[in-house]
Amino acid sequence: MFRLFKQSKNIIRLTTLLIAVIILMSVYGGARQVYWGNEFDRISDRAALYNSTLVSALKHYQYLPFILARDPIVFSGLKIGETQILNQRLEIFAKQAQVNHLYIMDTKGKVIAASNWRAEQTFIGKTYAFRPYFQTALTGRRGEFFAIGATTLVPGYFVAEPIFDRDDEVIGVATMKVDLGPLIQSWADGGEKIFVSNSDGIVVLSTDPVWKYRSLQPLSTEALTNIEQGRQFLNKPLSALNIEFLPDNELRLGAVNYLYQVSSFPILNWNLHYLAAKDVIIQRSQHAVLIASIIMSILLAGYLLIRSARIKRALCASEEDSRSLRKLNEELEREIDERRRAELRLALTQKELKQASKLAALGQLAASVSHELGQPISAMQNYLAFADLPDNKMDGETIDVMLHLNRLVARMGKITKQLKFFASPQTISTDAGVSSATVSGTEVFHDVDLRDVIEGVREIMGGNIQLTQTNLKIELPKFAVIIRGDRLRLEQVLINLVRNSLDAMKDNDGQLLEVNLFVKHGTSYINVLDRGPGLPKEISEQLFEPFVTTKSSGEGMGLGLAISASIVEDHGGELKARTRNTGGAEFSMAIPLFQTGDT
Ligand code: ADP
Repeated sequence: MFRLFKQSKNIIRLTTLLIAVIILMSVYGGARQVYWGNEFDRISDRAALYNSTLVSALKHYQYLPFILARDPIVFSGLKIGETQILNQRLEIFAKQAQVNHLYIMDTKGKVIAASNWRAEQTFIGKTYAFRPYFQTALTGRRGEFFAIGATTLVPGYFVAEPIFDRDDEVIGVATMKVDLGPLIQSWADGGEKIFVSNSDGIVVLSTDPVWKYRSLQPLSTEALTNIEQGRQFLNKPLSALNIEFLPDNELRLGAVNYLYQVSSFPILNWNLHYLAAKDVIIQRSQHAVLIASIIMSILLAGYLLIRSARIKRALCASEEDSRSLRKLNEELEREIDERRRAELRLALTQKELKQASKLAALGQLAASVSHELGQPISAMQNYLAFADLPDNKMDGETIDVMLHLNRLVARMGKITKQLKFFASPQTISTDAGVSSATVSGTEVFHDVDLRDVIEGVREIMGGNIQLTQTNLKIELPKFAVIIRGDRLRLEQVLINLVRNSLDAMKDNDGQLLEVNLFVKHGTSYINVLDRGPGLPKEISEQLFEPFVTTKSSGEGMGLGLAISASIVEDHGGELKARTRNTGGAEFSMAIPLFQTGDT
């Protein structure tokens, strides 16, 4: 059951995790799409902007060679060979227009005048007939070209215009060169990643110098021949750029992936590639995922908080339930316990009642038997005494019979005497009429000083004690020990205990009988100690039950302790017996002291 619960819990956890992962992946995908769209719009705008900047930079200078080609001084310089004035003029024009170089070539491609006439690396005297822009201009059209400078080795944009004479014959070429390096550098300084490829797919301008003069695609033999003939890139290897164009406007350049946008412009048939790092999109998408996970965590924490509060409440309620259930259980157990005790008490009381009624019946029987037999026995004793008179002549045999009869009658008298001793209190005379008497059950109780009880027993049993040569040691307190009770019945108990002790010690030499009276914790104790053999093991458990005796018939009836215990109980006390460690028996009679206020 527990395993099943654990398994389903694990499944719920896994499903939740799966849902969370799916949500986060969707968030990532969605965010990526949105940011990609935004970024693509941005790079399209940027590509268009840089395209127009470059176009305007190129167009800006295009008019200059055209004007020069129609300048009379250029014309006369070509015709007459007056080049010094021309040089100065070109120098001023170049400076004013902020172009790098202006120069005039004859129809052989030889430079006859140049704005850099003062410089060490002046173009004057150099022949650029191999340049395509010159060849185009010779045909009467404007020539445009991008190449690395053959003299200066500085790359630049060349524009050449044919110079016509009056017969529309080309007599020379006016050329301008613009270095686009500073413009590209300003883009690089702005942190942009841009490269421009020409119609052959060779990178001619680039914010990253590594990409420059590298080809985007394999070059055809024709293109390679043209480049070589025009000495466009001098002897640069034009190796292939490690570039791969991917779907969705993505390209991989080296080890880095970029988003890119191409913008083409009509002049020279060039393409401008604007690149943007993809990281931004990934980073922003990751931020979106992070925010989504934080929101999900907060929601989850909130849910868990509410759930744990609910569980806590349910736990409290169930604890409360189990507490009250426990309480009910305890009450039930208490009740059951109480009932069991009551049942035990009832059984005990019933047993005691049975015993008491047995003893009472026995007492009555003893009283009536001793009364009924008492008179015939004393009559028999009288007849026997009369027969024993000296006037009555009897032969020896008759005398023997008489003696035997005498002994039998004496024994019968002893038995009736014993029976009388056990007779119930109602059936024997008491010294009633003492003041402040109370009734307990069917008996009348008075204040009794237990010291008097012991003294009374000493008097009654004095003869027997002397006869058996027993030392009697009595210890009494100096103060009165008062209980509520029946003195005669208590004396009866004590006589019985003393008699049993004397019987137990009858075979002993140097007999000692101790009777102690003392008070402890509101209870009086009379202890009777002897030096006999101690309690017989075989009857030690049933000592206080009627008719339990080890004595022979005529010696004892096994009623003494049963009746004594019953009398002590009637006084609210208890009679106990044990064999002493030193040998001999100890009987202890405990009765509560009479407290003022007791009735
Ligand atoms: P009975 O004296 O008629 O036998 P009791 O009820 O007085 O009846 O005594 C029961 C038995 O208890 C006795 O038979 C005896 O075996 C034992 N008993 C009583 N008192 C003593 C004692 N002081 N020492 C040893 N045994 C005793």
